[in-house]
Amino acid sequence: MEKMEPVIGLEIHAQLKTRTKLFCSCPTEFGAEPNTNICEVCTGQPGALPRMNGEALRLAATAGLALGSRVNATSLFSRKNYFYPDLPNGFQTSQLDPPICEGGSLELGLEDGTVKTVRLNRIHMEDDAGKCLHDERGGVTFVDLNRAGTPLIEIVTEPDIASAKEAVAFLKALHSLLVRIGVTTGRMEEGEFRCDVNISLKPVGSAKLGVRGEIKNLNSFRFVGQAIEYEIQRQTGLYEQGLPVLQETLHFDSAKGETRSLRSKEEAHDYRYFPQPDLPPVRIPPEWLADIGKGLPETLPESLARLGALGLKEAQASLIAERPGALAFFDKAVEAYPGPKRIASLMEELFLPACQKAGMAGITDAAFGPIMLSKLAKLMDDGSVGRRVAKEQFAEMFASGADPEVFLKDKGLTQLQDAGAIEGIIREVLQRHPKEAQSFKDGEEKVLSFLVGQVMKLSSGRADPRKAGELLREIINK
Ligand code: ADP
Ligand code: MG
Ligand code: ZN
Repeated sequence: MEKMEPVIGLEIHAQLKTRTKLFCSCPTEFGAEPNTNICEVCTGQPGALPRMNGEALRLAATAGLALGSRVNATSLFSRKNYFYPDLPNGFQTSQLDPPICEGGSLELGLEDGTVKTVRLNRIHMEDDAGKCLHDERGGVTFVDLNRAGTPLIEIVTEPDIASAKEAVAFLKALHSLLVRIGVTTGRMEEGEFRCDVNISLKPVGSAKLGVRGEIKNLNSFRFVGQAIEYEIQRQTGLYEQGLPVLQETLHFDSAKGETRSLRSKEEAHDYRYFPQPDLPPVRIPPEWLADIGKGLPETLPESLARLGALGLKEAQASLIAERPGALAFFDKAVEAYPGPKRIASLMEELFLPACQKAGMAGITDAAFGPIMLSKLAKLMDDGSVGRRVAKEQFAEMFASGADPEVFLKDKGLTQLQDAGAIEGIIREVLQRHPKEAQSFKDGEEKVLSFLVGQVMKLSSGRADPRKAGELLREIINK
């Protein structure tokens, strides 16, 4: 058999970070009592009229700009008709042609150091369905419509992805970007960021795509990786046996680690898409778009370049630029104390690992804020606190949000920087050890470390040994 290679395209659903639903003013809040956040619009009552949520439109356009897409001045909502018990309208309100955004791309740094560009086909807006809750014991199914009408964007890539690793790297980069610019909260366990994986095999080098399977609704990076690996194996097996790969919709069973067929693939015409007569075309004035563009934070490459110029190592820069909230934290800390390199290494070595260990979703949840981190950085840069002390004491400061200046001083862990204070201790040491002082004066260099040792002892380890040595030399030779 010819050697085959995987071809992967992703369709990502991201829930827009709005307070209310796409076409009504019901809250989008997660976890409310079933069927309490509903009204006649989102439950599809006859005659109820949808009204577009402007904030959702702004967020969709923001995503498009951040991903380098063309944002269309006019786009249309269509009805995508199908029946499902949790779809009270009998159609999903989606965008077929033209969608709000077309084109765009996202660049990925791969493990081997190369950069890969994944092109986007389109981004469109649509509303989410409700949820069916199957009660296995009672043999009944409940329908919760709280989620019905929640605003989503669907981002569709070109089939540019060649492996499970690339797919996961792409999703992580996309997730982190969208969270960073506030388009979505991105809580995957709550379904705010989920993806369909389209995957086929083709002979290496061939331009013609093979028949694809579409794995629906994956809501964890790990499952995406596992589902793709499994599907590559499964399709390879079919080709090896000379059997056809069917175009079908698949479900990934995460417990078994397998994909399973749900149904054969529907075609767009099966949905009888037609323009949604209850909504006017979506128009985006150019001034409005320009304003959104101005409000956008720097892009990832821009952030990386800026951090590089501040002297950060590449790995540190990408850690800080990509971890949600980390760049804002870093910028605040640097604003308070201009020691970017020290702040970055404290974040890398102590702060971010501590957040991770505490299982924090966002680093803004940490009691230990950027100002505190900047104070610790300053204490270290001026030599008041050594790396060892910082490392040993960090967990406690992190947990309580203590001010390092106060906390470490109270514990007697800051080094004496004040020349006057060290000098007093030195005079005391010289008085106690006149013989050693004399032999140092006579040129016996070795004795200096003994004398420094005595200064350290008398200061209970708080003197800066380098400074103590310099001062000793000065005073004895005077
Ligand atoms: P649909 O909306 O019916 O799922 P699209 O043509 O919009 O189909 O494609 C959806 C996704 O599937 C896109 O990400 C696209 O890149 C990807 N895709 C299309 N054909 C293939 C294929 N043969 N192999 C892998 N991915 C594919
Ligand atoms: Mg699809
Ligand atoms: Zn509603």
